[in-house]
Amino acid sequence: MNLHTAATPTLTRSLGRVNLIGVTVALLISGIVLLVYQAVSLRASLTDIARLQAAMVSENVSAALVFGDRRAAGDVLQHMRSLPYVESVAVFDKDDARFVLYAREGVSDAERNEGTLESVSHPRRLSFEDVIVSAPVELNGEHLGTVVLVATTEQMQAQFQRYASFIFGASACALLIARFVMTRMKSRLNDAERRLEYLALTDPLTDLPNRRAFFEELERRIASPARSKAPLTLVLIDVDDFKTINDTLGHGAGDELLKLVAAALKETVRAGDIVSRIGGDEFAVLASLDREPHQSQSTAAKIVLALARPFTLQGRSVAVTASIGYSRFPDDADDVPALVSNADIALYAAKNNGKNTAVAFEHHMVTQAQRRARLEQDLRAAIGNDALSVVYQPQFECRTGKLTGAEALVRWHHPHDGSISPEEFIPIAEGSDLIVLLGTWVMRRACRDAAQWNRRASSPVSVSVNVSARQLGQPTFTHDVLVALAESGLSSRSLVLEVTESLLMENVDDVTELMKTIRAAGVRLSIDDFGTGYSSLSYLQNFPLNELKIDRSFVRSLPESGQPIVTAIISMAHSFGLTVVAEGVEYPAQLAWLVDAQCDVVQGYLTGRPMSDVAIQRLVSAQRETALALTVPAGDA
Ligand code: C2E
Ligand code: CA
Ligand code: CA
Repeated sequence: MNLHTAATPTLTRSLGRVNLIGVTVALLISGIVLLVYQAVSLRASLTDIARLQAAMVSENVSAALVFGDRRAAGDVLQHMRSLPYVESVAVFDKDDARFVLYAREGVSDAERNEGTLESVSHPRRLSFEDVIVSAPVELNGEHLGTVVLVATTEQMQAQFQRYASFIFGASACALLIARFVMTRMKSRLNDAERRLEYLALTDPLTDLPNRRAFFEELERRIASPARSKAPLTLVLIDVDDFKTINDTLGHGAGDELLKLVAAALKETVRAGDIVSRIGGDEFAVLASLDREPHQSQSTAAKIVLALARPFTLQGRSVAVTASIGYSRFPDDADDVPALVSNADIALYAAKNNGKNTAVAFEHHMVTQAQRRARLEQDLRAAIGNDALSVVYQPQFECRTGKLTGAEALVRWHHPHDGSISPEEFIPIAEGSDLIVLLGTWVMRRACRDAAQWNRRASSPVSVSVNVSARQLGQPTFTHDVLVALAESGLSSRSLVLEVTESLLMENVDDVTELMKTIRAAGVRLSIDDFGTGYSSLSYLQNFPLNELKIDRSFVRSLPESGQPIVTAIISMAHSFGLTVVAEGVEYPAQLAWLVDAQCDVVQGYLTGRPMSDVAIQRLVSAQRETALALTVPAGDA
């Protein structure tokens, strides 16, 4: 679907019109100025010649005037015949009476009598009327009379007309050339403008309409009265783990993948639907729907399927999936902002649902999204105000029943909503930089508390702190850990960092490097929730780990089922030299089975719920070599 119009761009059109009018006006003004100048100067030179001629006549008739000889004077005037511009010449005597008159042949009576003494006194500079000049006739300083000469402007007019036609012709030529140049310029400008418009509306990498073009089209389709209420689906598509692909295979591969995704999307949608790249690894599809209720669902499902397949990037086959959220117009929203926000909310839900899935917008999601946004804000304030707390869940050694460690678990008591589970607010924090602030805060608090409870302990009780992916990505992470240790005075041997499997897989090389540094400082590393992620045992060898925590979900089914897998995990961990911790031990039967299966450490509600720092301190002080079965479970703080 082409979103770009082919009409002549408006800028070029108006520019062309303005230009041509400008040139015409300029030519007109300069033509008028030139013609006026020409008329004035032609008249001025005719006047000069006429004056000269009048002066010559005055000299030649002076004797005739003295003697009153009209014939002689008439003869002098007859010489004027050879001068075609002289219309008439009159000689007046000293009493201003006409003494003699010459008039060219064919001149009318009115014109013959034009040359009077009065007519001389109104000289004109710009006119095509006859030029009338006079010259006094004198002899030895005595005034004898006056010569009045009338010169016709016929010749001057002819000359002027020639000049005017020349200027007109030249101007017409100039206009033609200007028009030609402008037409060429206009077409070039047109091209440039169209290209600019194309660039402004197209994503150069995939050649798809870009974000701006997409949302303009969405606005148009929803606003257009002809189509209004014609159902549409807005589908937002986010390539899962695109950053990992970009980081591990390089930007070239990332770009290639985006192009392949664009092509796959274009193939999947129907003609008339719009595919656009609206952000880094985010695509959008605008699909028009028939009145069938399930059509948007099948469109979204088709897209998931089209993208959930291996793509060949730089000769390598890479498995790619995408998360999809969609919202329908007009059923879910009847304006663009609401439609987009709904699709976004659905996309967020898809990503949280374990990715590689399409989620339809549902109205209850708005409330969830609002709560999430509010909690994020409140959590930021809570971290700043020390409104969080940390509780500690004890861990006991199976063989001896001794308290060997405690896991630090953050708690948030919200001023209005009461206690909020970390299962809810940790993912919110992980969506932003909040997790870094929160994690650093917990780390410092846990180190401080552990240093306190270890002060008088007979054997050290370590503290385990949960670390999120984003925290590990911070360049200051190692430094932050060392600062927390130094500040608290806790021995690095008493600190365990818990990381999850998926985190390890994200950026193997960098994470391995980081872990080595941390291990070198004496801090221990534990792999949390083991068995829920990639469940690949072989990669454990690559990481410098100390401990493995079997996920609660495996322990839950013990001892009825799941025995073989837990046995396998324990023996494999032991063969790598790892300590095994079983999480979520709730029943004595589970404990008994784990002890029997050579599990090293247990943690769960049976042996101790998460408790306050004061409570764990008491437990550490009362450290006795008591059998596990006798340990009274403490209440959740
Ligand atoms: P996790 O790291 O797997 O922590 C263990 C969770 O299991 C805790 O839930 C604990 O209270 C719960 N638990 C312990 N024993 C039992 C049992 O016998 N039965 C059952 N059903 N549950 C048991 P909690 O405290 O709600 O924490 C949930 C998750 O929140 C944690 O899972 C961890 O992933 C995250 N979390 C908690 N505190 C922090 C923190 O400071 N930083 C980070 N990054 N994540 C944290
Ligand atoms: Ca943990
Ligand atoms: Ca865990």
